[in-house]
Amino acid sequence: MARARADLHTHSVLSDGNDSPTQLVSLADELRLGGIALTDHDTIAGLREFMEAKVTSDLLRVPGLELSADYEGQEVHILGYFVPLESTILDSRLQDLRNRRQGKFSKMVEKLHGLGIELQQGELNEILTGVESPGRPHLASLLVRKGIVKNTEEAFELYLGEGKPAFVEKKRMHAFKAIDLLKSVGAVPVVAHPLTVKVADLREFLQDLANAGVRGVEVEYDYRPVGFETSLDELMRITRELGLIETGGSDYHGNSWMSGLGSTTVPVETIEILRAAADESNTEA
Ligand SMILES: [Zn+2]
Ligand SMILES: [Zn+2]
Repeated sequence: MARARADLHTHSVLSDGNDSPTQLVSLADELRLGGIALTDHDTIAGLREFMEAKVTSDLLRVPGLELSADYEGQEVHILGYFVPLESTILDSRLQDLRNRRQGKFSKMVEKLHGLGIELQQGELNEILTGVESPGRPHLASLLVRKGIVKNTEEAFELYLGEGKPAFVEKKRMHAFKAIDLLKSVGAVPVVAHPLTVKVADLREFLQDLANAGVRGVEVEYDYRPVGFETSLDELMRITRELGLIETGGSDYHGNSWMSGLGSTTVPVETIEILRAAADESNTEA
């Protein structure tokens, strides 16, 4: 059977996933996917390994990135597709974002300390080995390992979630800036999982981002855990009306996470549509 489906949203160990880029590629191959994108948070450090990992099939690979940004006080994620494997502009901007992330991470460790939860430097180093973008999932897994909480959900519920005692607000760049940054390196900006963003008016939100240069919307996504199923039809309708590309993926982070690789996919042709959009913006530039 033809390899017809593509998973366009995955994370590797370079951000907060469990698999190396090479492992992701071989897993996608084993699952007989037609395409896969690597979209680590705030880093492109895994892309070269991802693109060069050997496979026996003609699995299509899309170098990507996922940026955290702000839209009217809400956290929104912007995916970039066909990101260059090397870019000094991108590297320095991403380094800056990771520094902010690192600052936030240290503050969370301090807050946990204030709550009587001691995390030793050794333990922290161990969970952060090879990690470019340390985040809450890393702390959550350490809390689970130390037996302080039962599971990741409880770690967020008791300590790390928004408004919880070890939560630290991060200063995010504005969504429009994230879109500009992606455009400036010839990548195609796409709104990630828009139904997880609490906006008053979904159409206005997507229209705003489209005006700023977003070319696609992550329509296919496992929204069940966040419980927004009802507006999925509306999301599809608006996406089509605005002439945006429908993308999708599993947001796979590793086997211990909820969504398996390839559990949410789009037709593999989506990759060609995104490639055409990238070529178009590169000839304009
Ligand atoms: Zn995301
Ligand atoms: Zn993601």
